[in-house]
Amino acid sequence: MTQIDLEGRAALVTGASRGIGRSIALGIAQAGGAVAVHYQSKEEAAARVVAEIEAAGGDAFSHAANVQISSEVKGLVDACVTRWGGLDIIICNAGIWKGSMVEEMTENQWDEMIDVNLKGMYLVTHYAVPHLKSSTAGTIVNIASTAGQRGEAGHAHYAASKGGMLAWTKSLAPELAPFGVRVNCVAPGWVHTDMAAAVLKADGKTINAGIPLGRAGKPEEIAAVACFMASDLASYMTGEIVNVNGGSVLCG
Ligand code: NAP
Repeated sequence: MTQIDLEGRAALVTGASRGIGRSIALGIAQAGGAVAVHYQSKEEAAARVVAEIEAAGGDAFSHAANVQISSEVKGLVDACVTRWGGLDIIICNAGIWKGSMVEEMTENQWDEMIDVNLKGMYLVTHYAVPHLKSSTAGTIVNIASTAGQRGEAGHAHYAASKGGMLAWTKSLAPELAPFGVRVNCVAPGWVHTDMAAAVLKADGKTINAGIPLGRAGKPEEIAAVACFMASDLASYMTGEIVNVNGGSVLCG
């Protein structure tokens, strides 16, 4: 069995300035892949990820786009194709997590959640798929959440967006399989990133008690599975949702 090898592959990782996306971008680069480090507003953070990859001899560039806006996402995919002549891997990771009880949830809050987490994934995929079909190793990895599997009280719009990612993954896998494009999904539980930092700090003990492995995950523990899914080691795997949550969906 070989190690994960992404030499010669061009990858776009959305939301790669921080957290899970950053770890995935670094993981792809360590495996030899070229990486587009996408971000929305944290330009310096994205530049640091690019610098880290380049310092290790890798190929990366950063590009800003609001994933809610079609023209910006098209520009992002075009930038990858201009640089590399094609695209082999997309990792749909950019996302937001905000709380709201259903009676207080405004239409704007609902629209923002669905637009960033679900429409953003659709737009990236929509523009990238023609290039993935032209690749001999086209593959998509979506980053969902345990919330999409078992729901999340007080975050129903987030859970709905993530549940949508699971159904999207299961739908696109057979649709794109005839073109050799694999589509898989990672469903993380709690992970130590900016997104979860305040809650993990305030309620860490209670949260850890509900996780069979007794702790929240590290971004690199999600990245390891995403990089595996993007590689030829997962060449017979498509339409799968892999839980990386310390056992919490099945047991917690
Ligand atoms: P994070 O640290 O908050 O990073 C979010 C990333 O998404 C950043 O790169 C951010 O860009 C980007 N982003 C946010 N809104 C955007 C928009 N409108 N357009 C373009 N990019 C946007 O989050 P994370 O914890 O790494 O989460 C990554 C993914 O994992 C998300 O889909 C999240 O739902 C999922 N997840 C996380 C956890 C967890 O506990 N952390 C658990 C389950 C699932 P800027 O840096 O430029 O703002």
